[in-house]
Amino acid sequence: MFVSDILSQKGGLVHTVTPATSVGQVAQQLSLRRIGSVLVLDDEAVAGIVSERDLVRAFASHGAAAMELEARHVMTRDVVTCDPDDSIDRVMELMTRGRFRHLPVVRHGELLGVISIGDVVKARLEETRHETEALKAYIVAG
Ligand code: AMP
Repeated sequence: MFVSDILSQKGGLVHTVTPATSVGQVAQQLSLRRIGSVLVLDDEAVAGIVSERDLVRAFASHGAAAMELEARHVMTRDVVTCDPDDSIDRVMELMTRGRFRHLPVVRHGELLGVISIGDVVKARLEETRHETEALKAYIVAG
């Protein structure tokens, strides 16, 4: 199974903010949309990513004043991305090695979607279920 299979199921909707969006507004977006991260776009280019973990870090450092900071102050700038043709194993490795749970999907500079660790685990479980069913069918047929 590949990243493109996940995207074809969940679609390519990407929730974004600008570098000047306040941390308070980012927190509201994450809460309202029930998501764990937003991408920060600057003139359509990916400038960074802000996840709930970045917000926790900002609140731990700045207290309530963190609400007035901007996304550009708390985002991670070096965003790791994946390709639609990457395998599930490959993205699991990227997430484990990088210790993050979100991966934008980019091809030829075009943002095609975002996958989360939840999407990856779901795809992995489906793959395992299919393998088990195929093995059972093989045993019964033999
Ligand atoms: P997460 O586990 O996705 O909530 O993110 C944990 C940390 O990694 C946060 O500081 C995020 O800004 C950062 N992060 C999340 N996704 C990525 C990514 N694809 N590339 C680089 N950093 C990321």
